[in-house]
Amino acid sequence: MPSSSHRSGQTTDPTSTSASAPDAYRAADGPAVALRTGRCQCGHIVYQVEGMPDDPHLCSCRHETRISGGPAVLWVGFRKDGLTWTGPGGEPMWYATWPTLRRGFCPRCGTHLVSLADDSDMIMVTGFSLDDRSGTDPVGHSYRDEAVPWITITLAPDPQLSAAPSQ
Ligand SMILES: [Zn+2]
Ligand SMILES: [Zn+2]
Repeated sequence: MPSSSHRSGQTTDPTSTSASAPDAYRAADGPAVALRTGRCQCGHIVYQVEGMPDDPHLCSCRHETRISGGPAVLWVGFRKDGLTWTGPGGEPMWYATWPTLRRGFCPRCGTHLVSLADDSDMIMVTGFSLDDRSGTDPVGHSYRDEAVPWITITLAPDPQLSAAPSQ
């Protein structure tokens, strides 16, 4: 099931994830934009995103637990127009889990990399595909009710034991 940011809306915009256009959009304007890179396990699909991570959160919906094979997926948002596919494989293969929601994955190794909702200016990348995960500690957990019971042990640590602020 889609998370709250995955609502139905506009039709598919085929230009939103153009793979073979490494144009640096607005990279030359204004102050330097923080860049991050991420990739699949085999390196065939590589991406670059711009700016600060937005709304890092875990999701335990049934689509994502099944796709990932894990109890939750860490999603991190970045602006869609700052996304560039930079690897030898170009754009990932897409699979629609909802009429307006596509998942991008590597056709070679199967790594699940991005979630793209047609009605959002943001793209969600899987946090663990990022090379630099600073600032991506989850601030929430979608579909928490569907999470396996034992994950709550991890979700609710003793505050006395977690000295480091999670920002
Ligand atoms: Zn791969
Ligand atoms: Zn989900």
